[in-house]
Amino acid sequence: EKLRDLLLAHIHDVPDYPQPGVMFKDITPLLADATAFAALTDALAEACKRHGATKVVGLEARGFILGAPAAVGAGLGFVPVRKAGKLPGATLAQAYELEYGTAEIEMHADAVGPGDRVLVIDDVLATGGTAEASVRLIRRAGAEVAGVVVLMELGFLPGRERLSGALEGAPLEAL
Ligand code: IMP
Repeated sequence: EKLRDLLLAHIHDVPDYPQPGVMFKDITPLLADATAFAALTDALAEACKRHGATKVVGLEARGFILGAPAAVGAGLGFVPVRKAGKLPGATLAQAYELEYGTAEIEMHADAVGPGDRVLVIDDVLATGGTAEASVRLIRRAGAEVAGVVVLMELGFLPGRERLSGALEGAPLEAL
């Protein structure tokens, strides 16, 4: 499909980053290309409308770059989910398992609530841990999860399976 080819042409594989044996998907060439970035933003904004979202949550850090213009394009507000310790107000926190150890993300407790349908946007779904934790945060705030939309899903990792329980039937879409 045309959008898929355009996006893939601007995502670079970087071997052995950030560690030996890892093939990192670098989206900075896509962000730097006006046509590809606009096409991606349009597709994400369209997904917001299709999934009936009332708010967009973006995951630090590349989820901010993709989620914010998508929210504006869809006429919605944007809510950042950040690594622990970065948000000034009262927050809800959610810990999740990494390959080695744990991580924690936070969202302002009053940022979403009952009556909201929240779409989560990020660049890459890898193990699914970050997206799963964000879905739990949104539910704990009392809002509904409209779905998770990512630019890219790493199909050789079990991210989709890990996320499926938390999604409770909400869609996971990879552009
Ligand atoms: P997960 O929690 O393992 O699914 O990792 C997802 C998070 O790590 C996302 O916020 C991504 O931005 C980041 N990430 C993991 N792998 C890559 C990659 O190959 N390229 C860019 N970001 C990645």
